[in-house]
Amino acid sequence: MFKFIKFTCPECGSNKLDEVCLGATVYCGIKEISLYDSGEIYLSYNENDEYWDNVQEVEYSCAACGFLLEGIHDLESLKDWLLKNQDVLFRAHIHKWE
Ligand SMILES: [Zn+2]
Repeated sequence: MFKFIKFTCPECGSNKLDEVCLGATVYCGIKEISLYDSGEIYLSYNENDEYWDNVQEVEYSCAACGFLLEGIHDLESLKDWLLKNQDVLFRAHIHKWE
């Protein structure tokens, strides 16, 4: 079982979050953020966006206004930020990404 976390930008209210891969300068649009009961989070990406594996350093920013989640460079700190600042949505059915 897991829940979805919905990103809402504190600056402009957009729900679009980008993962910015530093060094490669690749922007990956994040489609969904899932929070598992185990405490892990999983990001799924927009199909047309490139996803780069093994990228060491990332940043997360609003896709609309560029609002940067300061100091957030990995999934663990992203999770902490999301849990503190965002809504966790509940969904009962098993998601296709699982
Ligand atoms: Zn924004």
